[in-house]
Amino acid sequence: MHEMSVALSVVDQVEQAARSGGAHGVRRVTVEIGELAGVVPDALAFCFELACAGTVLEGAELVTRFLPGRASCTPCGRSWNTGMPPDMLCAVCRRGAGTLLSGRELRITEVHWSTPAAAPDPTPVPQPEES
Ligand SMILES: [Zn+2]
Repeated sequence: MHEMSVALSVVDQVEQAARSGGAHGVRRVTVEIGELAGVVPDALAFCFELACAGTVLEGAELVTRFLPGRASCTPCGRSWNTGMPPDMLCAVCRRGAGTLLSGRELRITEVHWSTPAAAPDPTPVPQPEES
C-alpha cells in the first residue's frame, strides 16, 4: 500500500527530528497532501496510526491539509483547478498542456511536540474500521 510507505517515511522523519531535538513525544503532525499526490488521506491516517506504534509518535494525531491541483496556461495566463484525474488542457485557448502549479505536494508542514510534563490526552483516538 502506497500510504503505508508514506506513513513510515513521515514517522521516520519526525523520529529523526525528535532525536536531534531531544523531544519526548509528539502530539500532532500536520501533512500537506496535493490532490495529484496519489495519497488517500483516510488511508494515510490509518497507516500513520499503525506506523506510530512503539515510536516517539505513539498516540500522535495526524492532520492532513488538502491542496487542490492547479495548472496555468502560459499563452493566455489562465489558471484552473485540474481535478483528479488532472485536466491539463486550457479550456480557453486550447493550445495544449498547462503548467502544473501545485497538487503534487506531500510534505510535513508542522509538528507539535509534547513537553515531558504534559498530561496525557484523555480523549481516546477513534479506531478506524475496515468496512
Ligand atoms: Zn490558454
